[in-house]
Amino acid sequence: MTPSPAAALLEANSRYDIGGCLADIGDVPVVTDAVNVRRRSRDFFWYSPVLNEQLKGKSADVIVTPRDEADVIRVAAACARRRVPLTVRAGGTGNYGQAVPLEGGVLLDITGLAAIEWQRPGLVRVGAGAKMNDIDALTRPAGWELRMHPSTKRSATIGGFVAGGSGGVGSVTYGGLREPGNIVAARIVTVEEEPRVLELRGDAAQKINRAYGTTGIITALEMPLAPAWPWIDLIITFDDFFDAMRVGYDAALADGVVKKLLTPMIWPIPQHFGPLRGHCPEGRHVIFAMIAEPSLESFKAILGSRGTITYEAPHDDAPAVEPLYEYTWNHTTLQWLKQDRTITYLQCLFPHDRLIDSVREMWAMFPDEVLPHTEFIRFAGRVTCSALPIVRYTNVARLNEIIALHEHHGVLIANPHVYTLEDGSRHKRADADQLGFKAEVDPYGLLNPGKMRSYKPARN
Ligand SMILES: Cc1cc2nc3c(=O)[nH]c(=O)nc-3n(C[C@H](O)[C@H](O)[C@H](O)COP(=O)(O)OP(=O)(O)OC[C@H]3O[C@@H](n4cnc5c(N)ncnc54)[C@H](O)[C@@H]3O)c2cc1C
Repeated sequence: MTPSPAAALLEANSRYDIGGCLADIGDVPVVTDAVNVRRRSRDFFWYSPVLNEQLKGKSADVIVTPRDEADVIRVAAACARRRVPLTVRAGGTGNYGQAVPLEGGVLLDITGLAAIEWQRPGLVRVGAGAKMNDIDALTRPAGWELRMHPSTKRSATIGGFVAGGSGGVGSVTYGGLREPGNIVAARIVTVEEEPRVLELRGDAAQKINRAYGTTGIITALEMPLAPAWPWIDLIITFDDFFDAMRVGYDAALADGVVKKLLTPMIWPIPQHFGPLRGHCPEGRHVIFAMIAEPSLESFKAILGSRGTITYEAPHDDAPAVEPLYEYTWNHTTLQWLKQDRTITYLQCLFPHDRLIDSVREMWAMFPDEVLPHTEFIRFAGRVTCSALPIVRYTNVARLNEIIALHEHHGVLIANPHVYTLEDGSRHKRADADQLGFKAEVDPYGLLNPGKMRSYKPARN
């Protein structure tokens, strides 16, 4: 087939046989205009001043938008045959430059694969490009919802969460995606001349968990569900940040109290909370919480007189509303960045056996430089805190020193200022042989090249 004029122009500007690739994929829709392609080759890497410098000019050559799995297979085959890099993009909300195509090539927009295949009590099977908000909207009428979601639930996809995220709202009860049982199965397409479609069930599904799309193109996922409680959003304020930590810890340990979110944040973080600022009095530290309505009385008994409730309302994430969880997890950082671009952040995991002492130790070490924002979670069956502290940024050397000091004191860091899996994922990484699996499913190393830096292509 003769390449179209657009494809011919692309080919002239590309290192790859893009024209041949587009001819091979036939009528699968493509986007070729350079401005659009460049814009959609980005994600939220700009949170990191380091990644912003490294990634700001990177772009794919073309975007391909498959309508179904058959289209995905055609694109995978064409890229393998023509040795064209292929990077999957979904909602584009990742923070580590995960969906940024370092080597150009094809950007595969997977959001067309969004069908809910089936649901039954406790389980749903969906296209990988389905938005998490849409999944909840379809399962809630039957009394179920996703066990956990990132604070980007309204714009991110389930496939992007599994391939790039780690946990979020709900992880205080269910832990993160890496915990056994939190991904039931994944269907993937391999990148070979004759692509295979593999169903990965149970432990095998961990091979695609937080692999940044380097170990196969996920087309469908089977995800466990949780009872959809009527949730109550709460803001509780405290004189002392460590009182907030202790209340959060007591509530997190109380297995009889059904909760979805427990987020302590030190003042001045709430200063940047726009519409909710009125519920966050000057100088007071906060917990943002989501508690199941039937557990509210028990939660309040745990709180006692240690803090003051300034906001209490049924949870609402209707389209026109900015839900409470969009002030937690990495949205906390975004709320501050909306007003001030001089800060950045870290991603930490505190040791469960000396949690509050460890948070206090780090706070004392960098009192006005690293501001605690913690998220109660379960990790390998223990209650602890993940954290996304706000960092007042000065320079890279100081940032690396802060990271090293955390690690030296037993606080694990999944460094959000690097783009490789090996350096960035750490405690968030799944317990699976992703490197070995990549040799089977992506022998030419075409999937999101540069992100799994230890991979050497099995074939040329
Ligand atoms: C404000 C803000 C808050 C956030 N909060 C959280 C949070 O609470 N918890 C959390 O875990 N993350 C969080 N994130 C990161 C991100 O939003 C989530 O991980 C989200 O689930 C990513 O989904 P996405 O659809 O945007 O994926 P994308 O950003 O498009 O992709 C993420 C990665 O997955 C790969 N990928 C996507 N789809 C597929 C597929 N079908 N097959 C193979 N690979 C695929 C991409 O190549 C990329 O490497 C946050 C980010 C921002 C900007």
